[in-house]
Amino acid sequence: MTDVKATFPHLGNYFVPLEVLFTAGIEVDYIVPPPITNRTLELGTRHSPDFVCTPFKYNLGNYIESLEAGANTLVQVGGACRLDYYGELHEQILRDLGYDFRFVNIGSTKLTKPLTFYNILKEINPDMTLKNIARVLPVVLKMIQYIDEAEDFIRKNIGFERNPGEFDHTHQRFLLEMRSIRSKKELYNYYIKYMNIFKSIEVDKPKKPLRVGVIGEYYTIMVPFSNHFIEKELATMGIVIDRWMNLTNSVIHDFRPEAKEHIKNYVTFDMGATAMYTIDKALQFAKKGYDGIIHVKSFGCTPETDAIPVLQNISSDYKIPILYFSFDSQTSEIGIKTRLEAFYDMIIMRKEAV
Ligand code: SF4
Repeated sequence: MTDVKATFPHLGNYFVPLEVLFTAGIEVDYIVPPPITNRTLELGTRHSPDFVCTPFKYNLGNYIESLEAGANTLVQVGGACRLDYYGELHEQILRDLGYDFRFVNIGSTKLTKPLTFYNILKEINPDMTLKNIARVLPVVLKMIQYIDEAEDFIRKNIGFERNPGEFDHTHQRFLLEMRSIRSKKELYNYYIKYMNIFKSIEVDKPKKPLRVGVIGEYYTIMVPFSNHFIEKELATMGIVIDRWMNLTNSVIHDFRPEAKEHIKNYVTFDMGATAMYTIDKALQFAKKGYDGIIHVKSFGCTPETDAIPVLQNISSDYKIPILYFSFDSQTSEIGIKTRLEAFYDMIIMRKEAV
C-alpha cells in the first residue's frame, strides 16, 4: 500500500463497491466520507457559489469532511451536464480554504477507451497493476448491480413489512458484509443468500396496492438525505415505490437509444443529463397505470427543469398525477410532508373512485 488515502463523494450506498475498487483494485486506502448530515450540507453551502445546483454543495461538504477524516487524494467524475465542470471548481475552492491534497479529476478526460480509464486510475496509484484492476473491476460492477436489485426489491416491499425495521436491518447487514467480499463467486452466493432473506421477510401486501413511480435527477433521486427521505415517507404510507434510476441502469448500461425511441412523440432532441430517462420512465409508469408519479430534482437543474413541460403533457394525456419537488439547501421539512400527505389523499381517493 502507498500513503494514498483516497475518497469520493457519497452517492447512495455505492461507497461499498467503491471501497472495494480503491482498496483491492487500485490498492490504496479508502476514506468513506462520513455519513451526510446537516453539517455536511452547511459546510458545502457555506463555501459554494449560490447559483450551483445542490449536488455540488453536497460533494463539497463530503470532501471537507473526508479531508478532516484524513483523506489526501480526492477523486471527481464528470457527467452530461455542468457536473463536468465541478471538479475544477471544487479543487479551487478547497485550495483557497487552505487544504493540502491531490485532486484526480476523471471528469476532465474523455473515457473513450478502457486504457484511458486505466491510465487515469494510475494517477491515483502509479504502482497499481492492470492484472489487479482487471480482476477486481468485474466484482465491483456486479456489486453495483446486486445493490441495485436488492434495493429495488426493498422499495417495492418495505411499505408492507409486518415487523417494522426488518428490511432496514437486513439491508444494513447486507451492505456491511459485502464490504469484505473480493471474488465474483463469493459475491454471487452471498447475493443469493441475501435475496432469499429479503424474500422471506413477512409482508402484508394488498392485491392491488398503491403504486408510485419516482423519477428525476440522478443525484437527488439516489441520495436519500438530499430528497428528505421521501421514499421512506412513501413507504410508511403503504405504497409500492418504483424507481428505475440507479447506477446500473443509467451508467453501466446505455439505454439512451431506447429511451429516445420510446418518447419520440414527446421529445425530438436529447435534453441532457437524466431528462430523457425521466420522461421515458414517466411515460412507462403512465402506460402501466400507476397511481401517481413523483418528480425530484435539485433547484437549478436545467435538464430536469426542461423536462417538466413534457411531464405535464404526459400527465394530461394519461390522466396521471405528478407531484414535483425541487430541493435546495433550504427546504422546509414540514412543507414536503404536507405535500406528500395531500398527494397520498388524492391518489387514494382516485383509486377508490374507480
Ligand atoms: S443533473 Fe442537474 S442537478 Fe445534477 S449535476 Fe447536472 S445540472 Fe446539477
